[in-house]
Amino acid sequence: MKVQAVLDNLAKRFPNEPEYLQAVEEVLTSIEDVYNQHPEFEKVNLIERLCIPDRIFSFRVTWMDDKGGVHTNMGYRIQHNNCIGPYKGGLRFHTSVNPSILKFLAFEQTFKNALTTLPMGGGKGGSDFSAKGKSDAEVMRFCQAFVLELWRHIGPNTDVPAGDIGVGGREVNYMYGMYKKLARENTGTFTGKSLEGGGSLIRPEATGYGNVYFLLEMLKTKNIDIKGKIITVSGSGNVAQYTTEKLIELGAKVVTMSDSNGYIYDPEGIDKEKLDYIMELKNVWRGRIKEYADKYGCKYVEGKRPWGEKCDIALPSATQNEIDGRDAQMLVDNGCIAVSEGANMPSTPEAIAIFQKNNILYAPGKAANAGGVSVSGLEMTQNSIKLSWSKEEVDEKLKGIMKDIHTQCVKYGTNPDGSINYVKGANVAGFMKVAKAMMAQGVI
Ligand code: NDP
Repeated sequence: MKVQAVLDNLAKRFPNEPEYLQAVEEVLTSIEDVYNQHPEFEKVNLIERLCIPDRIFSFRVTWMDDKGGVHTNMGYRIQHNNCIGPYKGGLRFHTSVNPSILKFLAFEQTFKNALTTLPMGGGKGGSDFSAKGKSDAEVMRFCQAFVLELWRHIGPNTDVPAGDIGVGGREVNYMYGMYKKLARENTGTFTGKSLEGGGSLIRPEATGYGNVYFLLEMLKTKNIDIKGKIITVSGSGNVAQYTTEKLIELGAKVVTMSDSNGYIYDPEGIDKEKLDYIMELKNVWRGRIKEYADKYGCKYVEGKRPWGEKCDIALPSATQNEIDGRDAQMLVDNGCIAVSEGANMPSTPEAIAIFQKNNILYAPGKAANAGGVSVSGLEMTQNSIKLSWSKEEVDEKLKGIMKDIHTQCVKYGTNPDGSINYVKGANVAGFMKVAKAMMAQGVI
């Protein structure tokens, strides 16, 4: 395989998909050597079959607002690869959603799911709908209209969606309710459901907690204690909230959180009581992070990201490409020793190069945020055996999975000088598992 030739070919065929091409380039560059040690892969054009999704559904979603106005949005589901299990991956509802973003997410998800050791293929979907400013009834009608189209393509053994940006428990429950009505079955086809409706304990916490568990494994390799460390977190949604919760429990000091309007900087640190306020602000009142600064009298910076604030560790937990080269340089210059990605692809290629050049501990999202889909996998298992596991049981399993992912990264990503290239480790480990399954299943 010549990476540049593959990339040129994909760029020619999908010229308007920069995020997808960015994600493919990152993976192919780091697996090139390993791939080329297996001529049998090239013989069956494995790489092209792995980069291009199995299929893509796109559809119009029509829904009515509270005043009788009729709206249309686009809906999508990307079924990327199901060699090691049913397609699995979240749904994103955000105005920025387009096929490029969903294709990058579905591609990444395929390797991430392989890393979890659970039998899950990769998929992703969503809509350019935003719940901001919409009533509960409007969100419900949108979710129902979305599933009216999607339901024929999903199922417990074919494709199991979950949440992502703009899709939390409320949206998953509305979608699952409609799915059950249409499919006339109760098989847990969505994950991230409410507990009462078949959800798993620890699923809301899983991505954030999992990222912190991964960070602890990275810090352990350098005998660094997390206690007292100053941490910048971006976002204030699901991943950011539970990342912060776990960090507070471990005695670290989180000084920033953000939303799409700006960030707050609280030098005293966000404690449990302040985090409870953020959870209520974001999950119940659906307010803006600025209100935190108004309430606690701390700094609020409009229209900026938090990476210029001094920290020991940064945990980006909002969205893709939120740390560029300039941000990365500021983090390094300010003494940051570790970056672990709660979000998917939050660091640009320039940022990653800077982290690696400066030898800081850097974990890509496909390894560090795999806790969410892992507990989704555990939710699928509980649904199929019709049992619920305790909080402690699920948390222990999550810790074990994150530790195992770290071990795989170390196995495939250790450099001759002993440092660990987590990008290479995660990509090679995920790739080899999917590639072996594809080879065994023939040319399809
Ligand atoms: P939420 O919708 O709960 O929260 C997203 C947060 O990021 C909000 O604070 C939001 O601000 C902010 N945000 C969204 N888009 C932008 C943007 N363009 N610029 C700046 N801020 C933005 O989503 P999640 O917490 O679930 O997801 C966050 C990230 O984690 C995503 O990259 C997602 O793919 C990834 N992830 C999530 C998993 C999960 O289990 N939920 C699993 C693995 C990865 P605002 O409120 O203003 O929109």
